[in-house]
Amino acid sequence: MSTSQPPRPRAAAPTAADLPFLRRCVELAREALDAGDEPFGSLLVDPAGEVRFADRNRVRDGDATRHPEFEIARWAAAHLSPEARAASTVYTSGEHCPMCAAAHGWVGLGRIVYAASTAQLSAWLAEWGVAAGPVAPLPVQEVAPGVPVAGPAPELTAEIRALHARARGIALPTG
Ligand SMILES: [Zn+2]
Repeated sequence: MSTSQPPRPRAAAPTAADLPFLRRCVELAREALDAGDEPFGSLLVDPAGEVRFADRNRVRDGDATRHPEFEIARWAAAHLSPEARAASTVYTSGEHCPMCAAAHGWVGLGRIVYAASTAQLSAWLAEWGVAAGPVAPLPVQEVAPGVPVAGPAPELTAEIRALHARARGIALPTG
């Protein structure tokens, strides 16, 4: 066994400037859930703080790859220069899945900031007895090690957990 491998970089904490964008992602996640999709929403933000592209989960009609982070990667590849992509930040209510992390890495996007981590979501689903999905719940850094990552945002944890509970028909105690 090798002991020479450096430890995987840990995710940083989101900053105060990140929070409004994360809140918008949670609003998009709620909008997705209200429409019968899964509660995930994401934004592509340029270095000036301008939202260039926003989307939400759209898996309702049977295409389970319709994740907002994947749409962002494809939009960025079509519309932004490599330099602009690298300077952009992707905000998302839930940490990228491996498919979306790979797409993000392949198109050369910059920082990722998530409100809830994959580890948190996995723990909630296990707690509620929901079967694991078909894709390994890897953190972004395992899939795209060059991408700077920040999250989770404790301010939004309860709200996101409640959305996922509602998505699964789980009744959480109130208060
Ligand atoms: Zn995904």
